[in-house]
Amino acid sequence: MLDTIAPMMAPMTRVEAGWQSAWVMFDALPAGVCIADPSGRIAYANPSLHALLGRAPGALAGSDLAALGWDAADAGPSADGGHQRCFARPDGTGVRLNEVAGPFTGPDGVTYALHVFTDAPRHRTARKAVFRDAADAGAIAGVIHAMEDAPDDARLDVILEQSPIGVSVSRRDTGIIQFANTRFAELVGLPRDRIVGSRARDYYVDDHQRGRVVEELKGSGSVLNMEVQFRRADGSAFWTLFSVNQAVIQGVEVNLAWIYDYTERRNMEEALRDMASRDPLTGIYNRRSFMEMSRQALARSSRFHQPMSVLVLDVDHFKSVNDSFGHAVGDDALRAVAGACQSILREYDILGRLGGEEFMVCLPGTTVDEARVVAERLRRYLARLGIAGPNGRFHVTVSIGIAGVEGGCDTLDQAIHRADLALYRAKREGRNRVVPYEPGM
Ligand code: GH3
Ligand code: MG
Ligand code: MG
Repeated sequence: MLDTIAPMMAPMTRVEAGWQSAWVMFDALPAGVCIADPSGRIAYANPSLHALLGRAPGALAGSDLAALGWDAADAGPSADGGHQRCFARPDGTGVRLNEVAGPFTGPDGVTYALHVFTDAPRHRTARKAVFRDAADAGAIAGVIHAMEDAPDDARLDVILEQSPIGVSVSRRDTGIIQFANTRFAELVGLPRDRIVGSRARDYYVDDHQRGRVVEELKGSGSVLNMEVQFRRADGSAFWTLFSVNQAVIQGVEVNLAWIYDYTERRNMEEALRDMASRDPLTGIYNRRSFMEMSRQALARSSRFHQPMSVLVLDVDHFKSVNDSFGHAVGDDALRAVAGACQSILREYDILGRLGGEEFMVCLPGTTVDEARVVAERLRRYLARLGIAGPNGRFHVTVSIGIAGVEGGCDTLDQAIHRADLALYRAKREGRNRVVPYEPGM
């Protein structure tokens, strides 16, 4: 009994091993491959074919190949020397594939059919594949020449797919998008089949920005690195550097659009701009941006004949805070003073740190008398403010000088100088007080 089984087992084992080595080779191929037995049943289909036909892994084994698809009636032989075949995917979509088939002798001596399927953009990236002798694992049995060397437009496909820049092609007459690369789809957060057929104008966030693009296209025929915002599928916006070229592709006038995601760079630039305008200790405006913003406020006040006042505020005996509690607690006190000022002032008042323990406030639309009320409120609030120190809470007081900015001939620097003189008087008169400027100070 054993004698009769043994000779049967040996070739079977060899056959199994041979099949596997052949299949593993097809597993990694980017083109769809299947091997059909003489009755047309699929004995093997590789992962790429499952993906092309939208099937779960392994689902094609045992299917009747002929029943899965039908020959494309309108297409002649493909460039590969094969023909085109259409397939229905389970999700209801269809796919048209180039098919090349040839005989393939299996390890069992049976002649199978080897089918290689490629979709138009993909197949040219995988040009040739070696397959190994099924019965003698390791020996090269042949080379599949189903795919020709990549022509130029195939190379373009590869470049477009790898591009870090989102690319779309839309018809100039209808504005309908006909092509979008993977990066474009990533950026707008939509699958490509939903982008194709949609209108380019729907991705703009701002009609005004779109108007500028259209105008620029009309004027110079192209757009280069314009800052434009687009909309993601979830409704959020992202900034891009946007370029458009006009072209004619296969007789159709199109816009080639290139979008480079600029959001991070822009956020960084904004953060840097913001950092450059802020005092790092307290987060309020530094001297330079305080002056800049206050000058703009002064220009507006003059134009509308409105009053404006400035306060110069200095912490009293601040040196002793540092001396008593250390520099770090001194820093906390400066942050507390800045925070308190911010909480008292109105949204359109401008608060800056001039340096050290000296602050300045610009009060647009405010007369000196009104500014005095604000300054008194600030002074009282600060005097009551408890600041955490090493031995419990402590208090600081401030002296404040006030000057009104005279519309027309006055400059901001002159007004600040007057407020400084008033501050000097406040210090001399005993500190913890508010003094408006008076001529002769
Ligand atoms: P006055 O009432 O006359 O204003 O007295 P003062 O001690 O407040 O004035 P003075 O100008 O003599 O001292 C200011 C002190 O502020 C000296 C300096 O060490 C301190 N200072 C300046 N900038 C900072 C800072 O960023 N952090 C801390 N902790 N201290 C600072
Ligand atoms: Mg001081
Ligand atoms: Mg000072």
